Amino acid sequence: MPGAETDTPWQSRFGSSLMRTMGSPLRMLVRGEGAYVWDDEGTEYLDFLAGIAVNSLGHAHPVFVDAISRQAATLAHVSNYFSTPPQIELAERLKRITGAGVGGRVYFCNSGAEANEAAFKLARLNSSGTRTKIVALNNGFHGRTMGALSLTGKPAMREPFEPMPSGVVHIDTTIEALESTIDDSVSALFVEPIKGEAGVLPLPEGFLRRARELTEQHGALLIVDEIQTGVGRTGAWFSYMHDGVVPDAVTVAKGMAGGFPIGSLVTFGWASDLFTRGQHGSTFGGNPLATATANAVLGEIESAGLVENAARRGTELRAVIDGLESPLVEEIRGQGLLIGIGLTEPVAGQISDGALANGLIINAPNDSSIRIAPPLIIGDDEVRVFAERLRRAFDAVVAD
Ligand SMILES: *Cc1c(COP(=O)(O)O)cnc(C)c1O
Repeated sequence: MPGAETDTPWQSRFGSSLMRTMGSPLRMLVRGEGAYVWDDEGTEYLDFLAGIAVNSLGHAHPVFVDAISRQAATLAHVSNYFSTPPQIELAERLKRITGAGVGGRVYFCNSGAEANEAAFKLARLNSSGTRTKIVALNNGFHGRTMGALSLTGKPAMREPFEPMPSGVVHIDTTIEALESTIDDSVSALFVEPIKGEAGVLPLPEGFLRRARELTEQHGALLIVDEIQTGVGRTGAWFSYMHDGVVPDAVTVAKGMAGGFPIGSLVTFGWASDLFTRGQHGSTFGGNPLATATANAVLGEIESAGLVENAARRGTELRAVIDGLESPLVEEIRGQGLLIGIGLTEPVAGQISDGALANGLIINAPNDSSIRIAPPLIIGDDEVRVFAERLRRAFDAVVAD
C-alpha cells in the first residue's frame, strides 16, 4: 500500500527492523540540552540516567560539540599505521588521571566490552603456562562479547552462548571467597568497584584492598572494570582511588568521551610489558575523532571541577532520596553520582515508569533497585527538579 510505511508509528517500524536484542524503547527522543532531553511529542525529561553513565557533560555541551566538529573538519580517521596528536595526548592524560604514571600504557578501542576483551587477553598473557584461571565475581557485569560475557557473573546471560572461553571462575563477593580462590593458578582477578548493572552494589568494606594484597602475593593481575564507575562519576577520577588501591590494569569507556564511542585499557607497571607487537588491534580504536572528543570531555571535567561536583551533588541527591521518607526505600547505595535505591518491594519498574510519566529518566536494573546516574554537570536547579519529579513517581506507586 503506497504511503503505509510513512504512516507506521515508530514503535512498529522499530519492531519490524531492529534486532530483537532489547525490549521496546520507552520514547522516541529527538533532542537534548544540558541534563534535559525531549521526545518527538515535545515532552521534556530530566535525564538522570545519562545514557547509562555516558553523557558526562550532559547533552549538546558546547565543548563536546566543538571538539567533534573541529576534529571532523580536520582529520577524523587514519589507520593504526599512523598516530595523531589527540591520540598521544589522550594516552598521556589517561596515564596521569588513572595514576598509572610513567610506567603506564594505554590501548584504545571503541566500547566497554572491547576494553574488557583486551583485558582478558592481557590476563592470558600472564599465564606462563601454569596460570589457568581467571577469577571474576558472581553478579558482576563486564559486557556482551564472548570474552567479556565469560567474565560476566550472570549465568542466564551466558548460557545461550555456551561454550564460553575456558578458565573463568566466578566467586562470591566476600573476602573469604577471595582468600580461598586467589592462588598461583590465577592469572587475573576482574572486579567492578561498584556493580552497576546488578543494582549499584558496593563491594564489602576492605574487599578491594584484600584483593590487591592477594593478587600481588600470587602474581595475579588486579584488573578493575571502571567502565561505569570511572571518569569522575563516584567523586574520584576512578573508584579504586577511594580505597587507596593501585591496580595492574583498569578498563575505561562509558563516560570517557561524553557519548562518542571509545574504550581503553590502561596498564600499570609490569602489566604494561605483557602485550607485544601484533597481539591486539582495532581499526577504529584511538582514531583522532574519538580521542579529540575524549580529550575535550576529560579536559572540561577537570577544568570545571566536575569530579568534586559529582561528590557534592551525590550527597545532595542522597539527601533528597532520604527526604522522601518513603517506606519503599530500604537503603541508598553507591557513591557520588552513581546511586542505587534498594527497595523494600519489587516495584522498581513501576517507579521508573512513574518517573518517566513525570518527566524524569531513571532506571530499574532489577525489580528491587533504582539506578540514578545523572550528567556530572548538574547544579541546584536539576537537583530541585529531580526532587519534585522523584516524589511524584514514588507517590504514584504508594497510591496504587
Ligand atoms: C557498560 C559496562 C560494560 C560494557 O560496556 P559496553 O560499552 O556496553 O560494551 C562493561 N563493564 C561495566 C562495568 C559496564 O557498566
